[in-house]
Amino acid sequence: MGGLAPAFQVGSVTVAKVEEQLLRGIPPSFLYPGLTPEEFAITQQALAASDLEPSRDALVLSVHTWVVRTPRHLILIDTASGNDKERPTNPLFHRQSLPYLERLKEAGVDPEAVDFVFNTHLHVDHSGWNTRLLNGKWVPTFPNARYVFPKAERDYYSSPASHNEANLPSLGVYEDSVLPVIEAGLADYIGPEGGKYLDIFEFIPTPGHSIGHMSIALESGGETAIFAGDLMHTALQVARPDMNTVYCEFADEAQRSRRSLLSRAAETRALYLATHFPGSSAGFVTSGADGFTWRYAQGASS
Ligand SMILES: [Zn+2]
Repeated sequence: MGGLAPAFQVGSVTVAKVEEQLLRGIPPSFLYPGLTPEEFAITQQALAASDLEPSRDALVLSVHTWVVRTPRHLILIDTASGNDKERPTNPLFHRQSLPYLERLKEAGVDPEAVDFVFNTHLHVDHSGWNTRLLNGKWVPTFPNARYVFPKAERDYYSSPASHNEANLPSLGVYEDSVLPVIEAGLADYIGPEGGKYLDIFEFIPTPGHSIGHMSIALESGGETAIFAGDLMHTALQVARPDMNTVYCEFADEAQRSRRSLLSRAAETRALYLATHFPGSSAGFVTSGADGFTWRYAQGASS
């Protein structure tokens, strides 16, 4: 493969990131409404240079897909935000025109060759490239893939309960990025209890950020990785697992899931693969007397 991003080896599985975009200059007080400037001044000291703007007063977030190559399958985990989507209430992702499919190709991924697409949840920046606009119609971008969705996400975002102003991150997403996949007969579902999938994966229920959010563990050759989805948006939350983002829909559950998955990542020495951390977006969590700490992993050039 000719991917430009560093790759990580987990047993006999290779994992590499394909970036859709970086979101720059995010004010910490916007992303974390509960975080005071004084608290940010303390916690930001633990962040890497790539996590922040050079002034160190604003955050940088990545939006990307993890490309997973097992000995048997080519799998994409989360599909960023997509092109041409109408997101009038969410200007960050409105009517985009980004070279994501070109970048996938550079990383050696032909859309026709993708076997599975896993969505950790169905927010705007995780399911966008599930579909693309073709002759005025939304069609599955990966026509030969099985798309795997948490069932509780499908149920909630297809219901009127989620279609109100409190849930802006999801407005319109179900209709243009999920429903066309279901109508094409390509969708499979993971029940709220999670569980094993394709022998080497395990869907771990981590609800809170969204109603049926799932993280996905991978085990191969005695090594472990966790695709954590939006359990955290930046490494600030490693030291402060109590801190939710403005996008977390169910606050108490989000905190509980974050603490529990951080513990699991530390105990199993898993490679933690984040969706929004910039830099390598991957690293290790350790647990000590002062709580959890984060260290980026570098990966190998491919
Ligand atoms: Zn997200």
